[in-house]
Amino acid sequence: MNYILTYMILIVGGAGYIGAHINKQLNINGYETIVFDNLSYGHEDFIKWGTFECGDLGNINDIRSVFKKYPVTAVMHFAAFTYVGESVEDPQKYYRNNVCNTINLLQVMLEFDVKKLVFSSTCATYGDPVEIPITEQHPQNPISPYGRGKLMVENILSDYSRAYNLHYVSLRYFNAAGADPNSEIGELHDPETHLIPLILDAASGKRQSIKIFGTDYNTPDGTCIRDYIHVTDLADAHLKALQYLENGGKSDYFNLGNGNGFSVREVIEKSREITRKEIKAVEDKRRPGDPPVLVGSSDKIRKILRWEPKYDDLSLIIQTAWKWHEKRETD
Ligand code: UDP
Repeated sequence: MNYILTYMILIVGGAGYIGAHINKQLNINGYETIVFDNLSYGHEDFIKWGTFECGDLGNINDIRSVFKKYPVTAVMHFAAFTYVGESVEDPQKYYRNNVCNTINLLQVMLEFDVKKLVFSSTCATYGDPVEIPITEQHPQNPISPYGRGKLMVENILSDYSRAYNLHYVSLRYFNAAGADPNSEIGELHDPETHLIPLILDAASGKRQSIKIFGTDYNTPDGTCIRDYIHVTDLADAHLKALQYLENGGKSDYFNLGNGNGFSVREVIEKSREITRKEIKAVEDKRRPGDPPVLVGSSDKIRKILRWEPKYDDLSLIIQTAWKWHEKRETD
């Protein structure tokens, strides 16, 4: 096969919520993409762009066969388990997939001399915040195997960068939310645990109510505050990180949030406004492991990658999520 395009990006975990939005963004911007996914949590119908290769990171020959077949120039890595509670119950599952399998991917990248990687990290690497907003200098003391695994990979990348000249960008996400503004893809997890899709399920009658996990936090309305970032803005940050590496940028890590916090009650109230549905909320006990406030400073990514969010408004985040939710119900 002959490829005339210079840039071919391998999106590992490209059938998931975040990977699929990045796949769309890269294709709009003229990149050729290969989606590598084992479909354990991903959705085949989210792979609307690029070429699909079904395979498992746990099987190193699956990875090799993709690198043999395509002239990959850079990798974006999203394949990870993401349920914090489950990571406490079954840490082996998380360390094996999120850490060991990432080492497999890095091994094959080095074998094929592919030295650019954008890695999806998380604000869970910081643990309980000692300072808000959280900057990249904040101590990293994760409190779950999920967060610890992601931090291990960040450290592995830093060592590989020094030893093997790998160039990487780690993006530490705050709360990814919202959906593609054209409703081609959106947020869908099984089981669903995230606040906004659960609220919208309550709005559409799929669930009877939304539980508020904790109303006695030391916050203005007693509920947890989070920094919600639109998935399209998140995708744009990945594109900018990739271009930065293509232009010779040095390995680095950035927070990826808006710098604005919203409480659980505020998100529910805004969802009522947008959906014009009642949305019954039931006060419940705290969910273990939830810090009261998680808000990130995005100064560094704005300055170095020149990233500017376009949907940095809770209304836009919920509107796009609701539009996609309604479309899915009628499809
Ligand atoms: N939350 C809630 N009810 C739910 C799901 C989530 O009150 O049914 C709260 C949760 O305690 C947290 C916030 O909503 O404070 C965001 O949770 P989510 O699971 O969406 O993301 P996380 O912050 O855990 O990454």
